[in-house]
Amino acid sequence: MTMRSVSQNKYIGAHVSAAGGVDQAPLRAREIGANAFALFTKNQRQWVAKPLEAKTISAFKANCKMLGFAAEHILPHDSYLINLGAPEADKLEKSRAAFIDEMERCQQLGLTLLNFHPGSHLNKISEQECLATIAESINLAHQAVPDVIAVIENTAGQGSNLGWRFEHLAEIIEQVDDKSRVGVCLDTCHTFAAGYDLSSLEACETTFSEFDRVVGMHYLRAMHINDSKSKLGSKVDRHHALGKGEIGWSCFEYIAKDARFDGIPLILETIEPELWANEIKQLRTFHQQSLVTE
Ligand SMILES: [Zn+2]
Ligand SMILES: [Zn+2]
Repeated sequence: MTMRSVSQNKYIGAHVSAAGGVDQAPLRAREIGANAFALFTKNQRQWVAKPLEAKTISAFKANCKMLGFAAEHILPHDSYLINLGAPEADKLEKSRAAFIDEMERCQQLGLTLLNFHPGSHLNKISEQECLATIAESINLAHQAVPDVIAVIENTAGQGSNLGWRFEHLAEIIEQVDDKSRVGVCLDTCHTFAAGYDLSSLEACETTFSEFDRVVGMHYLRAMHINDSKSKLGSKVDRHHALGKGEIGWSCFEYIAKDARFDGIPLILETIEPELWANEIKQLRTFHQQSLVTE
């Protein structure tokens, strides 16, 4: 193994805009001092998108290579319209096709992760049935597209969205055939809104050991680093800038200093993009402090 520069243990970035083409995203990530980033590979509010052009794909790959972004630190997010647990057959079919298209786009771009929200039962089927449907959707996508890892994001539990309890994530993973291609992205805002406290170091210890017990830290493939406007257990998904919400800096300091969060993309989806560069800098400062005191 080659020696890694210490500051490279943490891969921190933000969900940047892909306006003007996905090849623009790595350039925007560079501008804010990121060594990881997230993006949409198509308009997240539309069902269909035109296929990626060959020149866009090669420009994306060239920019990532030039700026040193590796596939495992890039976290594409799927469309908000997709519901892999949809109770109605036509909606489910449409969602599965769109999800496979998202996976194919990742593969074309040389990417290995695809972040998505698990799905909603819309009060028409049981939780169990919905979780089984989501797992089956992942299995179908795995069969259709090689290499890409399905990264399930935990939710705040708004409406009938599943995936807010760690048990939901475990139940989906349990029913996925290829366990090497399924993982979890924990969003700190969603975790907190779902009722898992993160507002102190002790609370973080408890919450992440609960995650480890129920799901397993080895499934953690990414994190979304967001403060929360809404209260603990409110089930309301409202992101905030770091340190300005109900969670507070201690959680983000904890993540920056803890080696269990090394090597995976840590992505800001905070609401003031003009603060991203500073938020990244602050997280790196915490990380550096942990190395000094080791
Ligand atoms: Zn998300
Ligand atoms: Zn998120």
